[in-house]
Amino acid sequence: MIPRPFEYHAPASLPDAISLLNRYGDEAKLLAGGHSLLPMMKLRFAVPAHLIDLGRIGELKGIQRVGNAIHIGSMTTENELIWSKLLAETVPLLVEGARQISDPQVRYKGTIGGDISHADPGNDHPALMLALGAAFVLRGEKGERVLPADGFFQGLYATALLPGEILTQIRIPIPAPGTGWCYAKLKRKTGDFAAAAAAVLLRMQGGSVAEARIALTNVGPTPLKARGAEEYLRGKSLSDATLADAARLAMAICQPTEDQRGDAEYKTAMAGEMTRRALQTALSRAQ
Ligand SMILES: Cc1cc2nc3c(=O)[nH]c(=O)nc-3n(C[C@H](O)[C@H](O)[C@H](O)COP(=O)(O)OP(=O)(O)OC[C@H]3O[C@@H](n4cnc5c(N)ncnc54)[C@H](O)[C@@H]3O)c2cc1C
Repeated sequence: MIPRPFEYHAPASLPDAISLLNRYGDEAKLLAGGHSLLPMMKLRFAVPAHLIDLGRIGELKGIQRVGNAIHIGSMTTENELIWSKLLAETVPLLVEGARQISDPQVRYKGTIGGDISHADPGNDHPALMLALGAAFVLRGEKGERVLPADGFFQGLYATALLPGEILTQIRIPIPAPGTGWCYAKLKRKTGDFAAAAAAVLLRMQGGSVAEARIALTNVGPTPLKARGAEEYLRGKSLSDATLADAARLAMAICQPTEDQRGDAEYKTAMAGEMTRRALQTALSRAQ
């Protein structure tokens, strides 16, 4: 289908984008890579009268190290994440996750900020952000807020972004040296969303788990932090039995909906299996 006619705006600065967003209110939508928004407009699930393209705003792009954190502009594309030497050295979990998003066409245009703001439960960045303990910088007419990823995702396509706010930056604390990582994603075919996926960061000390962070994709209305499994693993060694217990604890919080990727029972079982595999791989990478 063809989208409803709209007026196109291409502000060159963040203050201009914020002022347009506030001028047009509910009538406006921000455009990032367009890979979620344009399909919604073509289906007329979204019918904005004004489209505000963030593509010309230079300050929303780029990846840099600031002290012990990585700051990523919200308009940074998946492709730029994948090829970033800095990220490969400091936050390889993010690179591994971005590499598994859809196909090269989507990754070339799709942005990290759009993926997070859209809050589709099938999107991969939200669970990656929970596992990484990221924070989001939101800018509006009244100034700036910094919110933790944990709590930002509030429901199906719903976030803590207020009307008139733009996600400008993602801040990720650099995991401690020697931290293991893995994003294990099950998909039916190349380019598909996850049937289930697990993002894991793992810190070991003397053969036992010092800290495990586990977050799940597409098995609930929001990404899920598997807190029970994380707490259970603290102080334990990773044997077949503890991995199986952690997977069961992760499965216990899943509430997937049935669709073409499988029924609830199958998706729940796959979330457990992805958790087990991600922990195993993270262990092999931990030092
Ligand atoms: C065939 C296909 C397969 C896909 N598979 C996957 C997949 O496996 N995993 C995955 O994670 N994603 C997948 N996607 C989604 C893709 O990653 C999108 O690019 C992403 O969801 C949205 O990013 P975008 O930059 O394209 O945002 P857009 O589509 O431009 O925007 C999405 C929404 O976010 C809002 N928005 C955008 N930027 C901001 C901002 N800075 N501040 C506030 N609001 C903002 C927009 O107004 C809009 O409502 C797939 C998409 C397609 C078409």
